[in-house]
Amino acid sequence: MADNQNTQTVTRETFNDVMVPNYNPAQMIPVKGEGSRVWDQQGKEYIDFAGGIAVNCLGHCHPVMVSALKQQSEKLWHLSNVFTNEPAIRLAKRLVETTFADRVYFANSGAEANEAALKLARRWALEEHNEDKQQIIAFSKGFHGRTFFTVTVGGQPAYSEGFGPKPGGIEHVPYNDIDALRELISDKTCAVMMEPLQGEGGVVPPDADFVKQVRELCDQHQALLIFDEVQTGFGRTGTLYAYEQFDVMPDILTTAKSLGGGFPIGAMLATEAVAAHLKPGTHGSTYGGNPLACAVSEAVLNFVNTKEVLDGVKSREQWLKEQLNAIGERYGVFKEVRGKGCLIGAELSDSYAGRAKDFMLAGQEHGVMVLIAGANVLRFTPSLIIPEDDVKEGLQRLEKAVAQVVAQ
Ligand code: PLP
Repeated sequence: MADNQNTQTVTRETFNDVMVPNYNPAQMIPVKGEGSRVWDQQGKEYIDFAGGIAVNCLGHCHPVMVSALKQQSEKLWHLSNVFTNEPAIRLAKRLVETTFADRVYFANSGAEANEAALKLARRWALEEHNEDKQQIIAFSKGFHGRTFFTVTVGGQPAYSEGFGPKPGGIEHVPYNDIDALRELISDKTCAVMMEPLQGEGGVVPPDADFVKQVRELCDQHQALLIFDEVQTGFGRTGTLYAYEQFDVMPDILTTAKSLGGGFPIGAMLATEAVAAHLKPGTHGSTYGGNPLACAVSEAVLNFVNTKEVLDGVKSREQWLKEQLNAIGERYGVFKEVRGKGCLIGAELSDSYAGRAKDFMLAGQEHGVMVLIAGANVLRFTPSLIIPEDDVKEGLQRLEKAVAQVVAQ
């Protein structure tokens, strides 16, 4: 058989031998996933509250995604943008129909979608205004990806330092501090980039009216508003995009992660007037709009963008918050449980400050996968359709992990 798969035995030690050392993944290696359960090389089962960092919105290997991928894989895999393809056009049409946007640009990740958004904003400002309008304002602790432009716009300097001169014209103000933004923004501001709920920065929701006030300041100074919905988008907070809950529309929105349900894809959505500035040849990607990715994404969109699934996300928020609050009260470990839909953070109380990773690792020992968002916050980004029994069982396992850390 001309099949060379699975003929080598690989372990976590092999990872250390052959991979660039920028990641330090868990010691176990997952080999199979179904719904919200995952099994490792030793056959141990885990309940997945991590969801591939807010990616696996339909859990693992959902039949709708498997079927879309299988069907497309027998038709056409790749062309490049020298040719277009039907799945890409269909998906773009659906995104335009379901959002504020008139135009779509496809990329392969969140960072790439944001890179496109920032380049487009700069191009728009140069062509519509003048070369003094270059300033990009973003928020402390925000996260927008790891390309040099996006990581510099992100509000965690530790991530962008150590690589030499950074892209310029980028400034930060604290999230939820509208006065700080008012002071900094001017007619020289090209764009404000923000997450409608900060994910990596600690699951921090915006204060009431903050998003609206940001929009107003952008309008006053003719600056573009870019919503990074890479983490909050595609149903994660209970609406297809989080902006729908704020009654505010961006000029540009970026989306990735759940957009492909596990197949790599990102997209930048924009209004007609802004999008017009990415003329032929100004930007591009070999894989952007790949037919496999777009076929899977369209299937995910059709499944997620229904009342049943979106209402279900709100139920999951309730189950998670209630049970996490109960654990917090029993063990005194959480200061606050917050977030929206299936993007929930539990901030550790002062006595456990800085120890989020200990809880995460204890969770793995007890068969539950959770994430952290900084050193003080446990983060939960499960499938949008995780069954109630899995939520219950996963949190029972987490409680055992919490008890273990508390007893130590
Ligand atoms: N933007 C936000 C809000 C994110 O949370 C992330 C990833 O965590 C990114 C951008 C970067 O996405 P990617 O890792 O797909 O490049």
